[in-house]
Amino acid sequence: MRVLGRWCVRALLLAGAIQLAGCSKQQEPAAPAAPKTPYGRVDQARVIAADAEPQNWFTTGRTFGEQRFSPLEQINIDNVQQLGFAWQYDLQTERGLEATPVVVDGVLFTSSNWSKVYALDARTGRELWLFDPKVDGQWARNACCDVVNRGVAVWQGKVYVGTLDGRLIALDADNGKQLWSQDTFVDRERSYTITGAPRIAGGKVIIGNGGAEMGVRGYITAYDAESGAMAWRFYTVPGDPKLPFEHPELEAAAKTWDPNSRWEAGGGGTAWDSMAYDPQLNLLYVGTGNASPFPQSVRSPKGGDNLYLSSILAINPDTGRLAWHYQTTPGESWDYTAVQHIILTDLQIGGTTRKVLLQAPKNGFFYVLDRATGELLSAEKYVEVNWASHVDLKTGRPVPTGQGDYSKQAQRVAPGPFGGHNWHPMAFSPKTGLVYIPTLDRTAYFAADPDYKYIPRRSFNTGRAGVVEYATQVSDGAVMTRKGALKAWDPVAQREVWRVDYPWFYNGGLLATAGNLVFQGTTDGYLKAYAADTGKLAAEVLVGTSIMAAPVSYAVDGEQFISVLAGYGGAQLDEFLEGSAARKYGNAGRIVTFKLGGGKVPVPSEKDWNANIPPLPERMPADAATLQHGGLLFGQHCGVCHVLDDAPSGYPNLLRLPQGKHAIFDEIVLRGALASRGMASFANEISEVDAHAIHAFLIDKAYEARAKR
Ligand code: CA
Repeated sequence: MRVLGRWCVRALLLAGAIQLAGCSKQQEPAAPAAPKTPYGRVDQARVIAADAEPQNWFTTGRTFGEQRFSPLEQINIDNVQQLGFAWQYDLQTERGLEATPVVVDGVLFTSSNWSKVYALDARTGRELWLFDPKVDGQWARNACCDVVNRGVAVWQGKVYVGTLDGRLIALDADNGKQLWSQDTFVDRERSYTITGAPRIAGGKVIIGNGGAEMGVRGYITAYDAESGAMAWRFYTVPGDPKLPFEHPELEAAAKTWDPNSRWEAGGGGTAWDSMAYDPQLNLLYVGTGNASPFPQSVRSPKGGDNLYLSSILAINPDTGRLAWHYQTTPGESWDYTAVQHIILTDLQIGGTTRKVLLQAPKNGFFYVLDRATGELLSAEKYVEVNWASHVDLKTGRPVPTGQGDYSKQAQRVAPGPFGGHNWHPMAFSPKTGLVYIPTLDRTAYFAADPDYKYIPRRSFNTGRAGVVEYATQVSDGAVMTRKGALKAWDPVAQREVWRVDYPWFYNGGLLATAGNLVFQGTTDGYLKAYAADTGKLAAEVLVGTSIMAAPVSYAVDGEQFISVLAGYGGAQLDEFLEGSAARKYGNAGRIVTFKLGGGKVPVPSEKDWNANIPPLPERMPADAATLQHGGLLFGQHCGVCHVLDDAPSGYPNLLRLPQGKHAIFDEIVLRGALASRGMASFANEISEVDAHAIHAFLIDKAYEARAKR
């Protein structure tokens, strides 16, 4: 309904049928002009022939095989030093940005946090439309790792987004108007979220979800891309075998679980990120996540592989039936998701061309599978791995060392739960034959909680105890590393060809181009370009914003662009690392686009985190037992987001709360005063007495921190 000023209403009443152009024009927001060329007309033939249209980036990974390789070469190793600023678009957020844009016929489609969707003129950054699904801020508490979204799918004039609160929404690509919306969640009492990009396969739009840390049961659902009608649903793990199985694959899977498993915790196996599609084989590949709870000794005490945790599933998109599966980590206990980026290509192996699937899941092994059959062709360590010595090619199974068994005692395990590689996309260049992996070196201690109890809607339900992941030196003398690298990996020889080391454990996703370049954004706020064949740094552009997302490349009217979402967060939002751009310049999120000869990127002004520290509040009356109770509750409910360090963070630092927030602490914690900003009410979990204990604990910690300054 349009809102008219009072004088306009009166004038309209007086004027009767006579149009008062000035009134309506002044008040009505300008409707998006109907596009000359309709937006987003992507179809199967165009995506299959994507190399004939190198100016476009049709899917989240550019093609169905998701190689994240651009055949454009106007920007190349010889001129990339001239790369500079083309345009930027302010996303008006300080939350994590993880999406890869889709670019079709000069229109850039992307998502941001809170599942907002944008269509921009890809040449200028001018906003064409913006869609806000208005996700309830309360839903943020269900997310393990920030209110992120990793992208949209564009298909036959529609744009699809999965929202944090579980809707799959189809928008009209021309104007961003909602066409249909489906509730994809089977249980709204559990902490499901959607952060991954939908994929298109066989005319269906496929969406998964996350939440295994909180205790959910994973599944993906396929909907008719045109009508939104649900086609099928595939659960990645069985439910309680006392109940009927939803589909035949679950009966087979249930045989690999202890019948007395902790079914109430959901089992996990969530498909929260990667998929790929082979239209010739008509197979959809889906990576599944970690277990719930983590320790198998707690989850499925009699052992078993616990299918289909940490697996790659090949599913016929027409029927929803499983063609094959490959499990990377049988008996998964370490948060070793296999949801990491899946790449499809053909490789010459042993003198024959093999249609392969490549993945570097969290467990530290780089896998080459035959994607028609699921046969394991090779698997080698791409980072430090101590839980398994190798993968037996005959059985296709990892050979455990025992170092990963923490059923009886705590163990240092490599990789840690962040994995050897996380969601940050890889890239594959058919020109160099190399896969580029943003790797992580981060080991961790694991201990099982012997008193594990699934508590509905508790922040974390992992069954992991005694986390000392952040220690740098631990009792057994091992150094707990926390760094990352960009590694160029030969998938045929299964060896590292070159690497670039970074002092941070997270850096951005990757883009490879035919200009012999690999692009990566970094934690310290640069867009870097490396020679794809040698790894030599070819160019770096200061952006001044930490970058996690993967760049894309596209062209408009013959001019090539590189574009990336710049903003820090996700699982890292709780800690702006030393040396990060987030710490130095703040974390205002934006899309930054580059072209040759563009000049300097506007860099935000520097930020002093120690300016304007609010004065300490008065201590609250509390005895030692109350403070201890508050600390325990803080760990259970608050510590997922808020740290107890007096250090820069993307979430409000509770040791530096201003007086005004202390005054309404109960309103915030128990009555959702800041729910619209993602700080949910915890009234169902904690009492007023509990809230006071947490408050007293925080003030006590604030005094402690201030004394150390
Ligand atoms: Ca996980």
